[in-house]
Amino acid sequence: MNELLHVYLSAWPTVWAMDTARYLVGATLMATILALFWRAGLARRKLQSRDATGADKRREILASLRTAFIFSLLGAIVAVGDHQGWITIYKGFRQAGLLYLVGSLALMLVAHDTYFYWVHRAMHHRRLFRLFHRTHHLSRTPTPWAAYSFAVPEAIVHAAFVPLFLLFVPMHGLGLLAFGIIQILRNVMGHAGAEVHSAAFGPGRWLGWNNTTTHHDLHHEAGRYNYGLYFRWWDKLMGTEHPDYRAKFEAIVSPGVAVPTPAGAGNAMLRTVAGSVLAGGLLLAADPAHADDGLAGRWMTQGAAAVVELAPCNSTPGLCGTIRWLWDAVDEKGRPRLDAQNTDTALRQRQLVGLSILSGLTRSSNGGWEGRIYNPEDGQTYRATVRQTGTDRLTIEGCVLFICQKQVWRSTAALVAALR
Ligand SMILES: [Zn+2]
Ligand SMILES: [Zn+2]
Repeated sequence: MNELLHVYLSAWPTVWAMDTARYLVGATLMATILALFWRAGLARRKLQSRDATGADKRREILASLRTAFIFSLLGAIVAVGDHQGWITIYKGFRQAGLLYLVGSLALMLVAHDTYFYWVHRAMHHRRLFRLFHRTHHLSRTPTPWAAYSFAVPEAIVHAAFVPLFLLFVPMHGLGLLAFGIIQILRNVMGHAGAEVHSAAFGPGRWLGWNNTTTHHDLHHEAGRYNYGLYFRWWDKLMGTEHPDYRAKFEAIVSPGVAVPTPAGAGNAMLRTVAGSVLAGGLLLAADPAHADDGLAGRWMTQGAAAVVELAPCNSTPGLCGTIRWLWDAVDEKGRPRLDAQNTDTALRQRQLVGLSILSGLTRSSNGGWEGRIYNPEDGQTYRATVRQTGTDRLTIEGCVLFICQKQVWRSTAALVAALR
């Protein structure tokens, strides 16, 4: 027992210094890049109009230093595990070669992304959010300093990943070091506040499977979407990617809006012209008149609980659905019904009538429509497939995790005709 304590205590200072240094170096590096290239183009890639305050940054730094301390408390256990032979950390290449180092590192990143997606989503559950995850979301406009800005319980959850992974997969010491570096770099890039990824990271491009600053910034801004850490796979698979992600990323990295241009009156003029042509193009793409609006109109949900209007979305492609009428629009005391089950407490004061519950509905390859539907009854967002199953009838199927619900909606026109 004494020996274990001795191994733990002799490993801890190094682990603590490394975890703290990793954060400070990573965040300082990103903050420096932002400062150096701000006027040379990054200013035009700023993602939110709001600015983080000095108090925000102070809170982020203090919480992150605390997290590095907690990481080191669990990280030193890894040294004990290695000493005792509970886990294996290769020190040389004799037992496992370079191929193993690269392969195990890739596996570790994929496993970490999976672990992060699911614990992150769980921490957004209304019963867990306040205790675990609220501290991180105090940063509505994140800065690189927010990288480790977690409450103590959330820090413990994240710190548990490395020891858990090592129980199953032996790693090289070098692989663990690389993992630590990649993890902090991706983390400060995600919280940079201005898009620092090139257009090659755009959805559909060759690096499009990676997350970007826009991706995680939208998570901080909007809450319910984009839970992934390194990759977009889980968000796409589970239907939790923000419907505006592609449009926002493309707009922010497209030339004319984002590419740094040398100063000068002539250039400024050109830039304005290019900017307005491009803005015109974007507007045209999102112009409701150009949208495919096959399902547009008013629909009555099953059991006549609500009337939902389907119409082209304001700023994104596809159709959006807004609640126009509710059977139970007010409660017993005559107060309008609110979005009280929302997992994001900040959104619970929204009135249900007027709430947009369907978004990004576009035609899918199998003849139906696909988008996302928010169910105010359980505060969950479902991946929705919509099919027109008759002249006045839609079948809506929404799935979250493995639970699917099906509903038939009827056109209000048919109802009006029947009432005549
Ligand atoms: Zn979150
Ligand atoms: Zn974050």
